[in-house]
Amino acid sequence: MMDDNFKIAAENLKKAIPLMLKNQVPTTPANYALWYTYVDQAIPELNQEIDRIIADFGLCPPAQSKLLYRNYVADRANMDITNVRESIEVLANEISSTMCDTITNTSQFSSMIDRSLLSLQRVDTPNVAIEDVMKIVRQLVDESKDIRCSTQHLNDQLTIASREIIRLKEQLAEVQKDVLFDSLSSLYNRRSFDEDLKTLCSAKQPLSLILLDIDHFKTYNDEYGHLFGDTIIKGIAKRLHMSCREGITAYRFGGEEFVFIVPNKSLRIARQFAETTRRNIEKMCIKDKRTDTSVGNITASFGVAEWQDEETPESLINRADRLLYEAKQLGRNRVMPL
Ligand code: GH3
Ligand code: MG
Ligand code: MG
Repeated sequence: MMDDNFKIAAENLKKAIPLMLKNQVPTTPANYALWYTYVDQAIPELNQEIDRIIADFGLCPPAQSKLLYRNYVADRANMDITNVRESIEVLANEISSTMCDTITNTSQFSSMIDRSLLSLQRVDTPNVAIEDVMKIVRQLVDESKDIRCSTQHLNDQLTIASREIIRLKEQLAEVQKDVLFDSLSSLYNRRSFDEDLKTLCSAKQPLSLILLDIDHFKTYNDEYGHLFGDTIIKGIAKRLHMSCREGITAYRFGGEEFVFIVPNKSLRIARQFAETTRRNIEKMCIKDKRTDTSVGNITASFGVAEWQDEETPESLINRADRLLYEAKQLGRNRVMPL
């Protein structure tokens, strides 16, 4: 049995490594675990997702690898976040001191029972007053009430503690999400973008970049306040995310600027996608729930560039940025190049 398991593991590893090399996946422990799980075919949903990503990108970009690892492979309970560990330790201490109290009460209770039993033996003797018997019984009842209270207290403490552990685990998952995602827009963050773009460029995968910047965003902040500015960023980010398909991925580039990586598509297709996005943003109406005001006619300017052989990520970003600048110069709310 052991031998069989070992054989399967060795076979899986032998299959996983060439796949990782082919798909430009760095050989980190997390990636080994991810690709081992892939060849093991233990989680069909994971295989489907990886197949789809490879079909779209021609490889598995780092941000997506990390997300897959997190969603399918990582054992959350084992993740080493000091904060959460400390909180769990505090909880454990609390529980054990509650248990100690209960145990002390329990041993007090049993010695009381012993004492009461001794007294009860006297009940057999003919001249014991009924009042005396009643006194012993009342004492037993009282003490058993106490013990019931403290068991109830322990139960309550345990329920609170297990709820708290669930909450901490969720918090842990959130903390880790922040490394990949931007907290305001929920899109992949700048760091994810830099990593993905670097990997795709060094793998010489065809791709286009769409950089977009909201027009006159400062005036929305000035007119409606920074919080409503945030709401606009969130609303637009959501729209951008929903428009993603065939591997097109939206990232928050910074401030009121966003970027799409468009894998395996020509400049013409990427430009068309940018144009559709531009029109969608124009049609949006974003509502401020607190003040019940709505803002429409928000526009954005776009710069689109296609990766050229041997070009660095910085150079590609710069070209898209220059085109975006031209779009602003020409009056905003447009996609460049024409
Ligand atoms: P342009 O059409 O030339 O792009 O004009 P603009 O006003 O959009 O550009 P500018 O770069 O002058 O201003 C961008 C503003 O975006 C300034 C900054 O305060 C605001 N901003 C950046 N990040 C955030 C954010 O997270 N929330 C909010 N509310 N505002 C932000
Ligand atoms: Mg800007
Ligand atoms: Mg702007």
